Amino acid sequence: MTCNSFNKIIINRSALRHNYTVLKKRVPAATRFLAMVKADAYGHGMFEAAAVFQCEGCRDFGVAETFEGVCLREEGIEGNIFVFLGFDSHDVSLYFEHDLIPVIYDIRSAEILSAEAITQNKEIEVHVKVDCGMTRLGVFPEQFEEFVAVIKSMPGIKYGGYASHFPRADEPDSSYTSEQLLRFTALRTCVDNVPGIVAHTANSGGILYFPESSCDMVRSGIGLYGYYPDGKAGVLRETESRLLPAMTFKSRVLQVKAVPAGTGVSYGHTHSTTKKTKIAILPVGYEDGLSRSLSNRGEVLVHGKRAAIIGRICMNLCMVDITGIESVQAGDEVVLMGTQDQEVISGDEIAELMGSISYEVLCLLGNNNERKYIE
Ligand SMILES: *Cc1c(COP(=O)(O)O)cnc(C)c1O
Repeated sequence: MTCNSFNKIIINRSALRHNYTVLKKRVPAATRFLAMVKADAYGHGMFEAAAVFQCEGCRDFGVAETFEGVCLREEGIEGNIFVFLGFDSHDVSLYFEHDLIPVIYDIRSAEILSAEAITQNKEIEVHVKVDCGMTRLGVFPEQFEEFVAVIKSMPGIKYGGYASHFPRADEPDSSYTSEQLLRFTALRTCVDNVPGIVAHTANSGGILYFPESSCDMVRSGIGLYGYYPDGKAGVLRETESRLLPAMTFKSRVLQVKAVPAGTGVSYGHTHSTTKKTKIAILPVGYEDGLSRSLSNRGEVLVHGKRAAIIGRICMNLCMVDITGIESVQAGDEVVLMGTQDQEVISGDEIAELMGSISYEVLCLLGNNNERKYIE
C-alpha cells in the first residue's frame, strides 16, 4: 500500500556520513569502529543507517537482540555483527547460520553455543561481557579469568574478546570513568589475552571525552546520529567538527482557527486563552512519539517561527498558538524537530522539556513515523 501520512521523519544520509567520518577520526587508525544500530538505529532505520556506515568502511555493527542481527544479514550487511543482550536457546542456530557474534555473560549460553557448534561441526566466536561498574549485564572482574578459562575449554567456542560499558562517560571529567577504565584494562593481564583478542568499552562519551579508552574497538551510537551524550553541554563544548543531527520531524497544519479570550483548549482545558488567539491544529500526538509530557511546554516551527503547544497533546492531534505568525493556512509545513528557515528545535531541547535524553526522543519519533531518506 502506498499512502501518505501527514507526518514524516526525514533522515539526512550525508549527516550520518559526516558523523561517522568525524568520530572515526577521533580514534586511533588501528582501532576498530563499531556502529551501534540497535533500536532501529535509534529511530534512523537499522538497515539504512548500517548501509551508510558500511559504505563509509564500517565493518563492525552492534544490535541488542538476535532478530536484529538476522535482519541485517538478510538485508545484505557484511562484516561483524555483535548481539549484546544474549539469546533465547531456541535461536542458537541463527548465530551459525547468519554468522553473528554473541556477547555472553553466563556459562549456560556458552554451553548451548558449544553444543550447537559440535552439531554443526563449526566454530563460533564469542565475546565476554564484564561488569566493571555499570551494574548491568556482565560477569564481575573477579570472575572473568575463570569464566574465560571455562569457555575456552569448550569445543567449538572461539574466545574473541571482552567488553564492558561506561555508566558515566557522558560526564567529561568524571574520575569514575577513569577508574572504571583501569579496572577494564587490568583484565588484559588476567588471562592470556593474546594479540587478536579484542577489548572494547568506549561508547560515544568514551570516544569524545576519554580518548584513552579506545582500546581495540569503540562502540558508537548517539554520536553517529548527531547528538552528544551530554546534550546541549556537549554541543557548546565542541571545539572540532560538530556532529550534525540526521533526523528531522515534519508535519503540516490541518486546520486554523481564531478563538476569543477565555477559550479552553483540548482535554481538561489545561490551557485557557488570555486574549484573542489564532490556533493551528496538527496531526501529531503521543501515538506519533510526541510525548504527552510536552503538553503546554513544547514548541514547533511554523513559517520559521516558534509556536507553543497549548493544551494537552492528544493521541493523534495537538494544538499550537500561531497568534502573530502571518497567514498560516491548512497544509503549511510544521517542523517539530529540526530546522526551518533560521530557527532550530533540537532533540536535546525536546528531551530537556521531557526530563529525558535525546536518545529517547529519537527512538520515539523515528520509530513511530514513516521515514524518508535524503542524500
Ligand atoms: C547502546 C550501547 C552503546 C552506544 O552508546 P552511545 O552512548 O549511544 O554511544 C555502546 N555499547 C553498548 C553495550 C550499548 O548498549
